[in-house]
Amino acid sequence: MNKKLDDGSVRADRGGEGRTLARAVWAPPLAPAPPRNLCTDCGISRTSTPKRCASACQFIQPDYPGMEERVQGRKRDPARPDELFFGPHQEILRASLAEPRPGAQWTGIVTRLGERLLESHGVDAVLTMAPDPNDPWRPIPVLVTEAQGMSACRGMRMGYAPLLALLEPARRLGYRRLAVIGIPCQIYALRALEAELGLEKLYVIGTPCSDNTTTERFHEFLGLLSDDPDSITYLEFRADYHVELRFRDGRQKAIPFLQLPLSKLPADFFPLTCRTCVDYTNVLADITVGYMGGEGEQWLLVRNSRGKELLELLGDEIRTRACGSAGNRKGPVKGFLANVERAAGGLPLRRMPDWVRPIVGWLMPRIGPRGLEFARARVEMKAVESVIHLRREQPGRIKHMVPEHVWELVKPYGLDRALGEKKL
Ligand SMILES: Cc1cc2nc3c(=O)[nH]c(=O)nc-3n(C[C@H](O)[C@H](O)[C@H](O)COP(=O)(O)OP(=O)(O)OC[C@H]3O[C@@H](n4cnc5c(N)ncnc54)[C@H](O)[C@@H]3O)c2cc1C
Ligand code: SF4
Ligand code: SF4
Repeated sequence: MNKKLDDGSVRADRGGEGRTLARAVWAPPLAPAPPRNLCTDCGISRTSTPKRCASACQFIQPDYPGMEERVQGRKRDPARPDELFFGPHQEILRASLAEPRPGAQWTGIVTRLGERLLESHGVDAVLTMAPDPNDPWRPIPVLVTEAQGMSACRGMRMGYAPLLALLEPARRLGYRRLAVIGIPCQIYALRALEAELGLEKLYVIGTPCSDNTTTERFHEFLGLLSDDPDSITYLEFRADYHVELRFRDGRQKAIPFLQLPLSKLPADFFPLTCRTCVDYTNVLADITVGYMGGEGEQWLLVRNSRGKELLELLGDEIRTRACGSAGNRKGPVKGFLANVERAAGGLPLRRMPDWVRPIVGWLMPRIGPRGLEFARARVEMKAVESVIHLRREQPGRIKHMVPEHVWELVKPYGLDRALGEKKL
């Protein structure tokens, strides 16, 4: 039975629970998360069948080659060398919305895709994250059922939240055509379970993800960046080697990566999950929307025909063009590897006198890897980091968690798979 709300929206009966955060944006109540070892609380452990973690989790027994072939219809193509870095795709593009949306992380392509799906009645609901009304940096999983609701979800929050726990309330409400917006560890589990969800349609909009941590820890980082951390409303690690901050009073600030106060963060600031996760670019999405190869614009990986369908939904609202590529990643990746090894489990700090940092910080956007070469460099850095941290902290997991293509990425840097690190 449907219920008319004060804000005019109509809501299916949900048993009177949960929170309505904005028009047509519902945060269902969540079961507590049972303890798990390597876990980013994607939500599966909070469902009525938490044992599914064993087969769904990217940290337990992932099968990237098999899943890529099943979801994308083929393996990574050796004749298309960028697929080794970014996974199967039909097209890679730079892109921007012709009219950037306020509050979006970049121009708002992700939100607009969700809006278009709801406007065109292509889906019954979108599963995504909204900001917690009490802490705008904390993600809360929500079901959005009308296009107007999507704008309340714009922007990036740091932290984990159990997005996939919403699959069950969505099912109870009879929603069989869904779109899911998620980061790679959420999308891996979603795809692993897709066949048993009984959905009529599923659109998967992925973002890349790296260096995530809990919202609590992220607040510590904000505290090092400003005397008034609560006034920071936006943070992004840009492809020009700067972190951009925006403040409540409209001020903006760009800090070169090298001048970030990383040495003041505790060694376990980034959990082992995020230091060892091997899917930076969300290879199982229909479309990946990020910024890494975009040289100041957004970056799209259209992975399959459903991803193409999504892009076409935006028509001439979106401007796209070919990606550029410049510089050479080898030196920066080697330097990164040396720093990760030297940091002995902590953060990869650069051994560099303070007076050199501004000079290198100025040079990097000009001579460092740019465009696709920047994106390749970041993917290789993440691969290097995964191998080194797993070897150090959970060596028994390495044969399960590191797929063949990641070994191929790290090989040129002298990281060869040892005996015992191969899956039998
Ligand atoms: C933790 C994190 C790390 C990221 N790291 C990178 C990176 O290294 N390289 C890169 O190219 N891109 C990265 N991204 C993606 C990037 O920040 C933008 O989200 C993306 O480019 C889309 O921009 P947009 O303007 O189209 O998004 P918007 O239209 O503003 O929409 C953003 C969407 O992201 C969802 N979202 C926000 N926070 C979270 C969260 N914590 N978990 C899950 N979903 C969330 C929102 O609900 C919303 O649907 C990261 C995103 C997250 C959440
Ligand atoms: S990340 Fe998800 S699938 Fe993996 S253990 Fe945690 S809840 Fe389960
Ligand atoms: S870095 Fe990987 S494990 Fe961590 S939140 Fe992002 S996708 Fe998940």
